[in-house]
Amino acid sequence: MSEGAKKIADWRAAKQHAGYKSLQLWFPIEFVGQLTALAYRHNQDIASYIMRMVQQSAPHEVSPTEAPMKSCKEGHAPYPAAKHGCPTCARNRKRRARARS
Ligand SMILES: [Zn+2]
Repeated sequence: MSEGAKKIADWRAAKQHAGYKSLQLWFPIEFVGQLTALAYRHNQDIASYIMRMVQQSAPHEVSPTEAPMKSCKEGHAPYPAAKHGCPTCARNRKRRARARS
């Protein structure tokens, strides 16, 4: 496996471990442009932006079987409430600690 492919595999494994699932969607190209611009304007990646929009538009339609989510005060993607803390913050902390050592 090349260095790049290994990095991608590691990143995917970390995402899955954090409770994420990848989802491929097909949209008209104009919509993709609009979505990308909106996410960029709100300083979020597309997935985080879509999650925020869904949660804002239907906060009470979440089924009780769905895991409750917590939101990070740093504005990171929502994470399962069962988790001890924001996985993105934890990852950033680890990265900073590694950079210091
Ligand atoms: Zn966070």
